[in-house]
Amino acid sequence: MVITMQINLFEQARPILEKLEKHGYQAFYVGGCVRDLLLNRSIGDIDIATSAQPSEVQDIFEKVIPVGIEHGTVIVRHEHESYEVTTFRREGEYSDNRHPDSVAFIQKIDEDLQRRDFTINALAMDIHGNIIDLFAGRQDLQQKLIRTVGDGYERFSEDPLRIIRALRFSSQLGFTIERKTLDNMMRLKQQISGLAVERMATEITKLFAGEFVNIGIDYLISTEIYKQLPVMIEYPYIIHRLPQPVNPLQSFGEVIALFHFLEPKINIIYWVKEWKCSNKIKQEAMQLADALFYYQRHGLDQWLAYRLDTSFHKGFIRLGKILFDVFPVSLDNLQKLKTNLPIHSKRDVALNGNDLHRLFPEYEKGPWIKRYLMILEKKVVYGELANNKNDLKDWVKWNPPEIN
Ligand code: ATP
Ligand code: MG
Repeated sequence: MVITMQINLFEQARPILEKLEKHGYQAFYVGGCVRDLLLNRSIGDIDIATSAQPSEVQDIFEKVIPVGIEHGTVIVRHEHESYEVTTFRREGEYSDNRHPDSVAFIQKIDEDLQRRDFTINALAMDIHGNIIDLFAGRQDLQQKLIRTVGDGYERFSEDPLRIIRALRFSSQLGFTIERKTLDNMMRLKQQISGLAVERMATEITKLFAGEFVNIGIDYLISTEIYKQLPVMIEYPYIIHRLPQPVNPLQSFGEVIALFHFLEPKINIIYWVKEWKCSNKIKQEAMQLADALFYYQRHGLDQWLAYRLDTSFHKGFIRLGKILFDVFPVSLDNLQKLKTNLPIHSKRDVALNGNDLHRLFPEYEKGPWIKRYLMILEKKVVYGELANNKNDLKDWVKWNPPEIN
């Protein structure tokens, strides 16, 4: 079943390779998609390598998005799908550990495969299904080994991100890191701290999302590579608080929420700053952590459902299962609670700050209004008060606010 779906994806991309070949260029499926096809694993996306220069690719296809022309990469749109098409290239130096200094386009795929990180990622396949395997990648797939293409010391020095990528692939594939590769990772791990944080975050997110995440975490701990990562540099003990086993997490917001729950002393703002996360990740981490702390004290109720966006329900369940010995919360539980809520946001409360002020003109406007509205909001959410102006007004008159 999986394999037919995979082949369909390759078939869908085939016209792109055919067109490139028709124009006299070489074209191959390359990298992760070939690896995953051979593993019968569901593939992320189809990447294509070609001898055509980016400008030539732009000439051949109608819809081309120039996402990384300087690195030889464009996106070709075909039948509403996107395909990364990258010109064969040899890699320059990474003197700043962030970007290669120069990129040289080349005419043969051999050297392009040579610049790739691991043997299992250095596979290419043509439209007839012939595999190019210059570094015994298929053998490593069979033996479930992660091994650098060429000398590990050199490859990890060129781009220390590959050290984290090795952990990430062990976590995704459940593979062992080959002995010499692992030795060289250990020798060069100090270089990691010089990397652009955003590049690390992408790999660490994938590490925590891996099907074999516990293997990835074991490596992270045994190699002590975690000590090179933001936040964990200063608080290395937090990794040892992770429960065993962990389940895969789907986003970095979930990772932050997990660690923050395990060590509340390190606040989310700090995590977000050190890892240069987006506002979206920050919101996710905050909502999830709030919900977890709330659940720990009160269990599941309307207030938890009210405060937690539907989009975070799955993440909350993933984290709950990791953190609590018994966690009898299902998606269905959450959704039912959510749909039955009388209101969905503060703005829905039928009485507002001005109404309150009018009811108690003798009190000066101040922080009491916000506090009092919060009480009303909670009572409405719990169904203790009906959400209409008259009922709320009545209740307020009988329960005047406490000032100070
Ligand atoms: P996924 O399915 O998770 O996307 P992937 O193998 O496609 O896995 P990517 O990070 O998308 O991984 O990279 C695509 C390919 O580009 C890799 O398979 C590898 O051949 C090459 N590659 C990516 N990053 C590096 C790097 N830092 N050094 C060397 N080669 C790399
Ligand atoms: Mg990929």
